Amino acid sequence: MTVFSRAPGNDLPVVARGSGALLFDTTGRRYLDGSGGAIVVGIGHGVEEVGEAIAQQSKLVSYAHGTAFASAALENYAAALAPLLPVDDPHIYPVSGGSEAVETALKMARAYHLARGEDRSVVIGRQGAYHGNTRGALDVSGRPGLRAPYLPWLGSARHTTTPYEYRCEFPTHPEGCGQQHAEKLEALILAEGPENVAAFIAEPISGAALGACVPPDDYWPAITGVCRRYGVLVIADEVMTGFGRTGKWFACEHWEVRPDILVAAKGAASGYWPLGFAACSGEVHEKIAGFTHGFTYSHHVVGAAAGHAVLKVLQKRDLIAASARQGAALKSALEAELGDHPAVGDIRGLGLLCAVELVADRPTRTPYARADRVAERIVAAGKEAGVLLYHSTGCADGVSGDLVLLGPPLVITDAQVAELAERTAIAVRQVT
Ligand code: PLP
Repeated sequence: MTVFSRAPGNDLPVVARGSGALLFDTTGRRYLDGSGGAIVVGIGHGVEEVGEAIAQQSKLVSYAHGTAFASAALENYAAALAPLLPVDDPHIYPVSGGSEAVETALKMARAYHLARGEDRSVVIGRQGAYHGNTRGALDVSGRPGLRAPYLPWLGSARHTTTPYEYRCEFPTHPEGCGQQHAEKLEALILAEGPENVAAFIAEPISGAALGACVPPDDYWPAITGVCRRYGVLVIADEVMTGFGRTGKWFACEHWEVRPDILVAAKGAASGYWPLGFAACSGEVHEKIAGFTHGFTYSHHVVGAAAGHAVLKVLQKRDLIAASARQGAALKSALEAELGDHPAVGDIRGLGLLCAVELVADRPTRTPYARADRVAERIVAAGKEAGVLLYHSTGCADGVSGDLVLLGPPLVITDAQVAELAERTAIAVRQVT
């Protein structure tokens, strides 16, 4: 075995093919893909027109450097995407994935302030956030377990509080909770000196790390108000929530947030191509048009063709509305199956981004000991039962806290929604 495995010690099945919300291995075994991998696959597996678009573009031209050529593929994709983005006069910088897109956004923010003659460098992220595994993205992330080995390389970012309804730290919750988070952010900006703070980065709805945590409605208006007051750019990380995952094209739309920079990946090409982008507003773009940045594979023509084909499928099949509808159905089905289970503390989410938080003691919301590996065991039991789930740990205190995440392809059928909830419940009951 010469592949550096992501799951050492596990005897992994060999994937053979996919169709809609289903994957099959080489023995013919069927898996209901309840998490679209890492909440990636929106349009479903095996969509022929995307494969064809990729093949067609590769046959015409598969690579041309972004500093040497413009391309119809990229221009057409950007033109189709722009009206859907909740960003004013957006300019799209395509890259190869979420972490690269976050790095791009962070540099854009710094470059913007420098161009205006302000030497701002501090970026504020949130505790419990995940923005990627490259160094800059990891620095703005707030997951202690991932950061720990690399701490000597990190430390320039600051972190503020994150809304987490189930474990809200404010005693007045939910009344005025958003305002209290905004006060924390403002205090941090003032402590750092507003003249030093370049940007605030956050997922509109916390995804992988805290598990589909939807903020209270007063959160985003209060937070963006503080950022505007101090000239701090707002970066919305929609890597997980974008492209219909939460029942809107972008989760920012739930609260009419207009970020200065929006970051997306995952659902952008639905796993058919490694594609991400950072889209900045016209105002930011005007200042940083000569931005010193780039990757060998940024502005990739085949990536643009893949992204454009995926966009057309999302539109043609009305999958954003499907996400809202099937998401509500999935949440009700999970509540019916698991709502009274003593190990289930919370079932939450929006659209087809859902999470189940497991607890050792429901009345006190005490998490399981990390050594029990409850989330990992539920995912393993789910796989045995033919359903693929995604786990996350550390939501309660950075170390403990077990989450099972669900984010199936938006094409999931009614029968598959019921099956997903049923089999998830079987796995939860078996382990807890
Ligand atoms: N940002 C968010 C919100 C994510 O969920 C992720 C990945 O899970 C990333 C950034 C990093 O994306 P990638 O794994 O494509 O580098």
